[in-house]
Amino acid sequence: VEAREAYSAARPRSAAIHARAREVMPGGNTRTVLFYTPFPTAMVRGEGARVWDADGRDYVDFCGEYTAGLFGHSEHRILDAVKAAMDHGVNLAAVGENEGKLAALICARFPSVEQVRFTNSGTEANIMALAGARGFTGRTEVLAFRGGYHGGVFTFPVGVPTSPVNLPIPMRFADYNDAEGAARAIREAGDALAAVIVEPMQGSAGCIPATREFLIALREACTETGAVLVFDEVMTSRHGFGGLQQRMGVTPDMTTFGKYMAGGMSFGAFGGRRDIMAMFDGHRAGAMPHAGTFNNNVLSMAAGCVALGEIFDEAAAEALFARGEALKASVNAACARHGVAVHFTGTGSMLSPHFRPGPVTAPYKASVAEEQMRELFFFDMLAAGIYLARRGMVALMLPVTDADCARFVAAVEEFCAARKPVL
Ligand code: PLP
Repeated sequence: VEAREAYSAARPRSAAIHARAREVMPGGNTRTVLFYTPFPTAMVRGEGARVWDADGRDYVDFCGEYTAGLFGHSEHRILDAVKAAMDHGVNLAAVGENEGKLAALICARFPSVEQVRFTNSGTEANIMALAGARGFTGRTEVLAFRGGYHGGVFTFPVGVPTSPVNLPIPMRFADYNDAEGAARAIREAGDALAAVIVEPMQGSAGCIPATREFLIALREACTETGAVLVFDEVMTSRHGFGGLQQRMGVTPDMTTFGKYMAGGMSFGAFGGRRDIMAMFDGHRAGAMPHAGTFNNNVLSMAAGCVALGEIFDEAAAEALFARGEALKASVNAACARHGVAVHFTGTGSMLSPHFRPGPVTAPYKASVAEEQMRELFFFDMLAAGIYLARRGMVALMLPVTDADCARFVAAVEEFCAARKPVL
């Protein structure tokens, strides 16, 4: 309560922004992930790896727009590309050259992607990938994993019953990282199953990496039954030049993308095997529809070509991955020094805190005490000038420095010393 009160007292402008928005928007915002009580901090400016809130405080941005902010705020090469695109007219109602260029960049990187199409978000990318898989197989059902998040209504938190009312597709569920159980569920579903969709590291469930054994079991069971294996790499494609699939050495049939790939402009894409993607080939009779006014919007296409073609190359991807692994090691060492029930899981540049002893290898429903500690952690980090996702997830941006990471570790260490979380 004290931390919440201190938070509110320090942010009168954010409180007013929230109060006004609440009159005309349920909850006062338009993204569930940005909502928390008493009210979310409103940001007014960002530059590099820094953000400023409406009350004039500044923070190091460790939230990284939930991975979409990979390039940092106002990266000059991306800005130049966007400005140039705007100078030539924004809504041209026509195909352009950049979409083919961006598609080629993506196909050249990701082992599973022979062809690709664009959307405006990761949610849409998943909807279209699953539609394609259903059309290709002539089957209807989709298997996903408890704890998985695939955007919008495709959210399956552990311990929350999934409402079929929300879902446009008949779903089955299995447990994440349970190789045997998942393979059994796929085989049992047999001819009914069109697709299996999985994050190769569960992001919103708390940065929980899949084991290679688990992904291989999915690969084998899908090959056997003919279900299309879809990797949702909306977040994890940053974990290597060819995504987490390349790092793990497991190739799905289809992959979905989003977040950072258009340099911070709105983006989504789905791609995969040529025979599956041919479902959308307008040269064929009976091609499946895939429309969308902004799918090839010139800002995203131009920014994406620069982001993937000129900035986030193999060396940059490896350096970011290594920085994340180093941060995880040093922050976990700091937690261990204090002997507290806090540790971080994740892969490369994405990590999440857990307020329980490790190891955490599967998603779980947190206790009330754990949730309270998570809230306290968030407020304490804000007070220390560190901006994070409310659930504590870190997504490093390219301009984050070693000094920024040291500051993060020091703030976590201070939290451990002050709050001594033992559960
Ligand atoms: N899939 C995963 C794994 C995600 O983490 C997200 C967003 O956080 C999505 C899909 C949805 O992407 P978008 O928010 O662009 O619709």
